[in-house]
Amino acid sequence: MHERLCAVYGCPIPYFADLDPLSELISSLLSHRTKNRDSARAFRELRARFADWPAVRDAPTDEVESAIRACTWPEQKAPRIQEVLRRIGERRGGDLSLDFLGELPVPEARAWLEALPGVGPKTSAAVLIFSRLRRAALPVDSHHHRVAARLGLIPANVAVGPAHALLEAQLPPDWDAQQVYDNHEALMLHGQRCCFHFDPACGRCPVLDLCPTGQARAAVGAGTPHAEGEAPRDREGIGPAPNLAGIKERHD
Ligand code: SF4
Repeated sequence: MHERLCAVYGCPIPYFADLDPLSELISSLLSHRTKNRDSARAFRELRARFADWPAVRDAPTDEVESAIRACTWPEQKAPRIQEVLRRIGERRGGDLSLDFLGELPVPEARAWLEALPGVGPKTSAAVLIFSRLRRAALPVDSHHHRVAARLGLIPANVAVGPAHALLEAQLPPDWDAQQVYDNHEALMLHGQRCCFHFDPACGRCPVLDLCPTGQARAAVGAGTPHAEGEAPRDREGIGPAPNLAGIKERHD
């Protein structure tokens, strides 16, 4: 499945970001349940209004909330971000850099991050692999999760959080960060461009013969092929991107 999807979506897929790990963490916290363009606006505004992360930590919370009002629930995210910054400083003797995570084994680095308030397996993996640390940690977003469940890689009733460990355990242990990143991106892009939430285009899916959901749908005559570039009933509003520039899309 990985090889076929990689062939379609063009692995190795370029990394979409090159933030330091603390900035990636703040970006990830802003992105929870938020459209990518809105969380990106909030992140840009936060960086524009404050000189550095200590300044965000020490600012009046309503000023932080105002800076991030482009994202969802700024009234919750502003105090959460400040609390996360405070906790990092307490645990690191005042140092807010997370670069040290690059020296830890991935499971230890993830555990360190997940001890922070509001940080779960998706965020910890995102910090390690999307930041310039480039560690081999697998994030699972809603597209990735949906496609994996339909393909039978995880039971349909497993939520996104616990799906992380199940899916990561299926990856070859010698895969490097680029291969792990490609796996996530390929499944995510497949969810955006073919395996739509409400009406997957099984008829043009490159892994149809491997997919129990697609096979079941074919047996009852569902899964009509959509034309390439068409995503008419994807109610998440995430249609196929015209080219790989679209991989900058990120989702919860
Ligand atoms: S066959 Fe259909 S359900 Fe299965 S992965 Fe492809 S688009 Fe999704």
